[in-house]
Amino acid sequence: MITVQKAKSIIDQYLNQLDSEVVLINESSGRIINHNLEATFPFPRFDNSAMDGFAVRSIDTVGASQEHPASLKVIGISSAGVPSDLTLNPGECIQCMTGASIPNGADAVVMVEHTSGFTDNDTVHVFEETHSGKHIRKMGEEIQKGDALIVKGTRITPSEIGVLASFGHRKFSVVKKPRIAIFGTGDELIEPGEILDDGQVYNSNLYIFADLVKNLGGHVTMKNVVKDSKESLNSFLSKALKTSDVIISSGGVSMGRFDYVRDVYIGLGVKEHFWKVAQKPGKPLFFGTKKGTLIFGLPGNPISAYIGFMKWVWPALESIMGIPKSKPITGLLTEPFPRENCKYRYLFGQAWFENEKLLCKPTGKIGSHMLSSSLSANCILGSEQGENPLQPGDKININVLPWKHIK
Ligand code: AMP
Ligand code: MG
Repeated sequence: MITVQKAKSIIDQYLNQLDSEVVLINESSGRIINHNLEATFPFPRFDNSAMDGFAVRSIDTVGASQEHPASLKVIGISSAGVPSDLTLNPGECIQCMTGASIPNGADAVVMVEHTSGFTDNDTVHVFEETHSGKHIRKMGEEIQKGDALIVKGTRITPSEIGVLASFGHRKFSVVKKPRIAIFGTGDELIEPGEILDDGQVYNSNLYIFADLVKNLGGHVTMKNVVKDSKESLNSFLSKALKTSDVIISSGGVSMGRFDYVRDVYIGLGVKEHFWKVAQKPGKPLFFGTKKGTLIFGLPGNPISAYIGFMKWVWPALESIMGIPKSKPITGLLTEPFPRENCKYRYLFGQAWFENEKLLCKPTGKIGSHMLSSSLSANCILGSEQGENPLQPGDKININVLPWKHIK
């Protein structure tokens, strides 16, 4: 049995980033961008109007008011997408719409509300004095050419999609989705929808795994419940080893008579890097590799499988997908936390803010078979080994479940 730290450092040695592929912007949601993106032009790309109004020479409006408007000659229109190539001479102005390019010679825009309005007349009355730059969005005021826009490893959300589109990217390069095979083993397992017989339980773990993979942005390529027999395991795994970047299993890696998963892996040429980690739940964790494939064998108790996935598999998947590590956070316990003498202890927990402090507590029902303890959880709490339980007020590590929020 090795420590949690040692196990992490072993896994780290085998994490290689996945290749890239080009995707269309419409299909890029949730993908991970694999390069730093820079602005290829300034933004705004040209001086343009922030208002519907008149582009003027501000000097021509000096002293203008409701009682003494400035009379300007209207020489044309600049509208969004149809710029005017006219140049303003003294006493002239141009109707200029929001987003339209500012004509040569103009240095301000007067809102149409402060004029006699858009008409077909040759002249407009301006009721307000303006100053140079007013209502003009200057070229490059938001972004200069070459500015960093999106950092490598960022997940694409509506904000990234918007910025990519603003810079004209119809397709771009992202990290390939990891191809993931998941399986559960157990003769007692049946699928939801079937009728339970004596001693049977519904397979829940593979549904958890599949949803976690989906959440993270991986691709489940194989998914099956496999019988506790060497033949069934062999046939699933020999195919999975050829077609997957990662294989994740639940069950069959403990000390039971019918726990064949480890033997079968080894028989198929998987190199075992460790089996058994000083942690609770999930001690009989198996980690191995074959060529580029990472193999995680998690025990079958639903909480061991779920927490094991979050603590071991999720960070490994993030790493091969090029997602930067999230920073560890700590909170203050409001209830005791049961530490273990010689094992790292994880429990589902609740974390919340109160009086500007981050507080937390385990969710209760702490048995590793008690899946309902995850229902009210928004995090996993984790503590190093220790003689006595941690007490209210003590600090503890918090790992927020990425799809939950701390309120
Ligand atoms: P094992 O790790 O195979 O010894 O399984 C430990 C416990 O987890 C047993 O009570 C199994 O019935 C249960 N179990 C194993 N696999 C699953 C699964 N896919 N879904 C729900 N429970 C499971
Ligand atoms: Mg079993």
